[in-house]
Amino acid sequence: MHTLRELEQLAAQIRTCRKCPLGRSRTHAVPGEGPANAEMMFIGEAPGYYEDQQGRPFVGASGRLLERLLAIIGLAREDVYITNVVKCRPPGNRDPLPAEIEACRPWLHQQIALIDPLVIVTLGRFSMAQFLPAHARITRVHGKPVVQQDGRVVVPMFHPAAALRNPNWMQSMESDFAQLPQLLEEMRHQRQNQNDDPPQQLSLF
Ligand code: SF4
Repeated sequence: MHTLRELEQLAAQIRTCRKCPLGRSRTHAVPGEGPANAEMMFIGEAPGYYEDQQGRPFVGASGRLLERLLAIIGLAREDVYITNVVKCRPPGNRDPLPAEIEACRPWLHQQIALIDPLVIVTLGRFSMAQFLPAHARITRVHGKPVVQQDGRVVVPMFHPAAALRNPNWMQSMESDFAQLPQLLEEMRHQRQNQNDDPPQQLSLF
């Protein structure tokens, strides 16, 4: 309950945030949604038109694809936390600017700290860039889990909008998703043991 309250307080702050110019052009900020104790967190790039209208993440065609992919692994969107790197829509759906990403970053970091997910799935290159080195290329690293210093694992994936445009990437997304249940199980096991044992190497890597 404590985390839920803190997460709601954070969302309220995001909805009134004016730390970058996107705060003036948005209709609604989109803090994100999902259980406060979600084991898996999906991070996209920025809200689009429908997200901006409704104040909810991934509600258009990309959202429908995300829901279909989640269903493949037996999950519903209500089982995971879904958010974006930038919480307000860039005008005309342009890419978020570095200064906007920088201004918005603390909100994302606070969300991650509160939810404490085991697995973070980044959707698209802007989200991937928050966790992987700048030289990482999504076409090469997608679907490959990367262990972070905080013990979480980050799995970079294509953005659903990109997969909708490219059948090859759609196939990659489906196979990347298919490995998530096993990875999650591995991470649960890892966290269960981490208080008693010294850090272990994940067998998947
Ligand atoms: S994009 Fe982020 S930093 Fe910019 S106004 Fe919206 S919530 Fe604030």
